[in-house]
Amino acid sequence: MIAIDGPAGAGKSTTARRLAERLQYAYVDTGAMYRVLTWIALDGEVDLDDGHALRAAGESRDWTTATEQAEVDGVDVTDALREPRIDREVSRVAAHPEVRELLRERQRMAAARGDAVIEGRDIGTVVCPGAAVKVYLVAEESERARRRIEERPGRDAASLASELRKRDAADVEQLRPAPDATVIDTTVLAIDDVVARIVVLVDETAETSP
Ligand code: C5P
Repeated sequence: MIAIDGPAGAGKSTTARRLAERLQYAYVDTGAMYRVLTWIALDGEVDLDDGHALRAAGESRDWTTATEQAEVDGVDVTDALREPRIDREVSRVAAHPEVRELLRERQRMAAARGDAVIEGRDIGTVVCPGAAVKVYLVAEESERARRRIEERPGRDAASLASELRKRDAADVEQLRPAPDATVIDTTVLAIDDVVARIVVLVDETAETSP
């Protein structure tokens, strides 16, 4: 199991996806789960400050984020998960312990199905502390904002940058590397170089494990 954590725009998703393809591992995007729960909450007009109600809403709907396509009750919500309203509210939803408890359980189940690259904020620290390889990606704020703007064409650059700062502040409790994580600064690295570095870590771990 490979755990990849770090803030928004550090390169987690692209890196995790490429790495999973290269190693033929499953890819588990835990941010997508928090986004689905936010979508469900907004759809059902659930109070975003009520952790119990949010958890109940997550339990009452049939949803999945597998195979990179998110569905709620059979409806494809993949594109909706990137909408500004979700970007704005997801950290508020993710801050509730009831929500985290529910989703961490789902994340562990997804990761337990076999070799997986699992990506998020608290994977190496809380969800899968026994992961064989733990990586914490970082990048300078201006570069993370640039990437976010590139990913969200048509949206105002200044508001995206300010949203990213707000999300960093709201996520701060989850945002710390596990003591045994390898920190990689991706500011000036190409994705292929980041993937190559992690493959080296995977090979080294395979050599040293019994
Ligand atoms: O990675 P992504 O930007 O899709 O994550 C959306 C939000 O979900 C994060 O800003 C954070 O609030 C929350 N999240 C989390 N723990 C994770 C993954 C995501 O709290 N493991």
